Amino acid sequence: MTSYHNDTKIWEAINEEKQRQENVIELIASENIVSQEIMDAQGSILTNKYAVGYPNKRVYTGNEAINKIDNLAMKRAKELFKAEYANVYPHSGTQANQAAYAALLKPGDKILSMSEKAGGHFTHGQPTNFSGQLYDCYFYGVDPKTEFLDFNKINEIAKKVKPKLIVAGASAYSHIIDWTKFKKIADSVGAYLMIDMAHIAGLVAAGLHPNPMEVADIVTSTTHKTLRGPRGGLILAKKKFANKLDNAVFPLSQSGTLEHVVAAKAIAFKEAMQPEFKEYIKKVILNAQAMAKVFNKSKTIRVVSKTTENHEMTLDITKTGLTGNEGAELLYSVGIATNKELLPNEKGSVMEGIRIGTPTITSRNFNEYDSAEVAETIQQVLEEQDINTINKARQKVQKLTKKYKF
Ligand SMILES: *Cc1c(COP(=O)(O)O)cnc(C)c1O
Repeated sequence: MTSYHNDTKIWEAINEEKQRQENVIELIASENIVSQEIMDAQGSILTNKYAVGYPNKRVYTGNEAINKIDNLAMKRAKELFKAEYANVYPHSGTQANQAAYAALLKPGDKILSMSEKAGGHFTHGQPTNFSGQLYDCYFYGVDPKTEFLDFNKINEIAKKVKPKLIVAGASAYSHIIDWTKFKKIADSVGAYLMIDMAHIAGLVAAGLHPNPMEVADIVTSTTHKTLRGPRGGLILAKKKFANKLDNAVFPLSQSGTLEHVVAAKAIAFKEAMQPEFKEYIKKVILNAQAMAKVFNKSKTIRVVSKTTENHEMTLDITKTGLTGNEGAELLYSVGIATNKELLPNEKGSVMEGIRIGTPTITSRNFNEYDSAEVAETIQQVLEEQDINTINKARQKVQKLTKKYKF
């Protein structure tokens, strides 16, 4: 703490959070650890500047440096994802989706998207979210047996519903998605295709997942998950949607830009272009696969769809007798952070699974052996649930978090 940090209550809490991040094995699949350079940009004087509008079309004066930052951020986003258009201003993934829908749809129009149970995000039409309240939403799921996307079924539903927009992309789906199959279905019913790559943007940037920009009309994303940038949103699109999207972000749904975050996004895009980033994402996937391999030997814990091809997987823990919430709480008590998750086939909405992912531990340099050890520890804790196992697990967590500082 430096001397100008007067607000001790807040700084103590920030420090407490820092300790927590250091001492926990973080497996929440949507989290990551950003570089110091990204944090420096976010903590910079850019936060003082009001920049409403777009470069050279600002509401306020004094945006000469800001225009440079924004133009660089847009240029890099376009280059990284091979997009004709980029909007780097959405404050979050949710706001990116809000703007994308607004650019393509009128209230009451039909959307077809992945159900929350199958791994879709709640901004894809859940009734508690603006998307479900503003639009007429229909859902597709996964094959009940294989738990993979069932394109025949999706095609069938699309033919019946005739949506104006098909949304692809998920928050809890562990496989490579063949976007061209979505494109075919969208074309056959005359629907727009929007792909939300929030979770896998890092894999796409690294060239280790097909780029949704190759087929989608609009691609939305967050910048803080596997992409390892600041907390924020991003929209990419074909040029023909540029005007509509510009207007859907400002003035329709946002006012001032978060310039400290836009600068940090620009830095993150540059980081993601480096060969080291590709190596990082490769390790993220290998670590996830090392964990899945351990769970596949277990009699009580089942990996949804058996395997993972990306950074995450959902575990069916019903055989342990624990709900997803109980499982996640028990694991957190030994210092392993996960989250409760719906299972594709669950009848109610208890959340019978937990979701785990490897972006954060890989940023801390955990290797495949460490990841397998973490998976073994998870398995032991969830199966045994006794004090001896719990104490041993705590020691293991301490050993690993001491070894891999960040
Ligand atoms: C995380 C996520 C979002 C929302 O991002 P926020 O920045 O939390 O609003 C949207 N879509 C998908 C698929 C996500 O996984």
